[in-house]
Amino acid sequence: MIAIEAVSKWYGEVRVLSGCSTAVTRGEVVVVCGPSGSGKSTLLKCVNALEPFQEGQITVDGTRVRDKATNLPRLRARVGMVFQHFELFPHLSVLDNLTLAPRKVLGRSKAEATQRGLDLLARVGLSAHAHKHPGQLSGGQQQRVAIARALAMDPVVMLFDEPTSALDPEMVGEVLDVMVELARDGMTMMVVTHEMGFARKVADRVVFMDRGEIVEDVAKDAFFDRPRSERAQQFLSRIL
Ligand code: ATP
Ligand code: MG
Repeated sequence: MIAIEAVSKWYGEVRVLSGCSTAVTRGEVVVVCGPSGSGKSTLLKCVNALEPFQEGQITVDGTRVRDKATNLPRLRARVGMVFQHFELFPHLSVLDNLTLAPRKVLGRSKAEATQRGLDLLARVGLSAHAHKHPGQLSGGQQQRVAIARALAMDPVVMLFDEPTSALDPEMVGEVLDVMVELARDGMTMMVVTHEMGFARKVADRVVFMDRGEIVEDVAKDAFFDRPRSERAQQFLSRIL
């Protein structure tokens, strides 16, 4: 589904990704972790072409990201992304947040987009809030709306960048529960998170990054039980 091959990226003179290679197959959940500044967000943004990269290739569901012929808006429409800060449209109702892009980008009818939006709100447990504005919801509820909004585009893959790290602790669980369910439903997911409980529960593989490099890319159990690199051992000893 996602193939990342020898990707390198520079911000000016500074190399922030160095020869990164990994792959996410259909239905797989890959957790990306590593110290602050190691390049996790940058790698994720390269996958849906929010950031350019200078070397290597990324292919998403058969489409090459770094190819002049690629229709980037169409690519982004198929890659759902959820950030730390929910970035909902504050002036729109929750339901309108979910129907806007499907109507404008996918050309769905209002009735069709509304039905799908309501289904998704039910799925994230927010049916009662369809007509509120985002500002009337808690952080955890807003993040669940953001997940539903991404799903409304019927993405082939979902990218998450620390979706719970801006939340009050008591709201982390409700967002992780939605993500766990999504994973169990077979969604292909690439998740940057420090929630190692989530990783243990649903990850198939863990990618550990440090200083722009992918240092480990192994099955979940191998990562937690016997990390090979000293850098991953140190990282785990700090956060577990
Ligand atoms: P965190 O855990 O803090 O979110 P991260 O692993 O997501 O960190 P990135 O945000 O990908 O790290 O940053 C990787 C490197 O790129 C860092 O050294 C950062 O300072 C640098 N960087 C990120 N964005 C920019 C930018 N727009 N311009 C210049 N340098 C940047
Ligand atoms: Mg980041």
